[in-house]
Amino acid sequence: MIELDNVSKNFGDTGVLDGVTGEVNRGEIFAVIGPSGAGKSTLLRLIDLLDTPTGGAIRVGGTDIHAEREKSLSIRRMMGMVFQKPAVFNATVAENIAVGLRFRGASKSESHSRIEEALDMVGLVGYGERRARTLSGGEMQRVALARAMVIEPEILLLDEPTANLDPVSVATIEDLVVRINRDLGTTIVFSTHDMYQGQRLAHRIGVLMTGVFSQVGTPREVFTLPASRDVARFVGIEN
Ligand code: ATP
Ligand code: MG
Repeated sequence: MIELDNVSKNFGDTGVLDGVTGEVNRGEIFAVIGPSGAGKSTLLRLIDLLDTPTGGAIRVGGTDIHAEREKSLSIRRMMGMVFQKPAVFNATVAENIAVGLRFRGASKSESHSRIEEALDMVGLVGYGERRARTLSGGEMQRVALARAMVIEPEILLLDEPTANLDPVSVATIEDLVVRINRDLGTTIVFSTHDMYQGQRLAHRIGVLMTGVFSQVGTPREVFTLPASRDVARFVGIEN
């Protein structure tokens, strides 16, 4: 469903991604794991069309999203993204979630019922009129997830969805990710520097190191048959 074909990205003279190749299948949970600074956020931003690659191509359903502008708009509409630092703006929870719907021409009553559904999905029934800025970090993260889900995306991109959360909130978000994938069939790509989270949630993992996927495989493969010493070291098998 998402094809990464030799994707590279430089910022000025600094190369961050240097030929990332791999494929995310429809309906799977795919984890991008790698150390801080490896380029995980950069890669997700490229998939979400927030930035353009320096080289290579990203294809979604066969369309080169950075080359075919016309089609890329409709592809962007089928993707929802949750950012590493969850951003809620100074309004109610319902208004924060409605942002995703505003560009899609939903009627008021349709928006209302979709927002209620999204709140239910993330376990925040009754929170619609709360000021978003008064929520806890875990609740804000769930609002960000509801905002991404309210448009019923086919692809959900989650950049470190549980960074800086307490263990209970981490478990809540992880349960949600699994349920969204299982119940709605949403294809999910998430990044994490926590290899155990990759192991818990993902069907397959891409290990992003030194600008490339050092390995792509099931958690079992990555953890028991690391493709290189670097991967082995990162997953803690060898020092
Ligand atoms: P973390 O686990 O800390 O979130 P990451 O794997 O998500 O790290 P990125 O945020 O993708 O890493 O950053 C990769 C590298 O690219 C870093 O060295 C970062 O400083 C650099 N970088 C990212 N965005 C820009 C930018 N807009 N301009 C210049 N450098 C950038
Ligand atoms: Mg990041």
